[in-house]
Amino acid sequence: MTILILRVSIMIDRVESLEEQHITGTMVAYYFICKRKLWLFAKGLNMENVSENANVIKGKLLHETRFQREQNREFAFDNIKIDFLVYGDQVYVHEIKKSKKFEDAHTWQLKFYIFNLRQKNVNCSGGVLHYPASMRKVEIEYEPEDDLKIREALGDIASLLKKDSLPPKTRKKICSKCAYFDFCFA
Ligand code: SF4
Repeated sequence: MTILILRVSIMIDRVESLEEQHITGTMVAYYFICKRKLWLFAKGLNMENVSENANVIKGKLLHETRFQREQNREFAFDNIKIDFLVYGDQVYVHEIKKSKKFEDAHTWQLKFYIFNLRQKNVNCSGGVLHYPASMRKVEIEYEPEDDLKIREALGDIASLLKKDSLPPKTRKKICSKCAYFDFCFA
């Protein structure tokens, strides 16, 4: 028990120092997709803004055209920007995504938003991932142990971003559709 408390308090210290590092939901998602992509993005090489990659364009269009009637769109605080919030018996986080291919990363991105809301004493323990292109949605429940998992991920991200060296490229199935493909492999 004492070891667990010590571990959590060390993580809290690490996470608190993360404020200066401006960790965003996109960075959390990239952490689960590719650490090299995370490093490049965090260091300012944002190919998503300059790339003509069709997937990037489709993703932007999706955000600009779907769920327009939702009242609490683009809810922003600190380094966080949530697609939309729905208020009911509690607050629910909603994220719009293009492809279910990265559902695990999307889940952690959404949980990162819930984590941040809970840090501000907002009653929130759930959300929904929307995949309008495939007309699917996935309900996400924030589990008590997710606090620790998020803190671990944030600690890892902080350590990774402190390094000056770019993580090595490893060819994966997702690389051919990645906005950084030319940078890594051309
Ligand atoms: S092309 Fe592949 S290795 Fe390079 S950043 Fe993208 S996913 Fe990572």
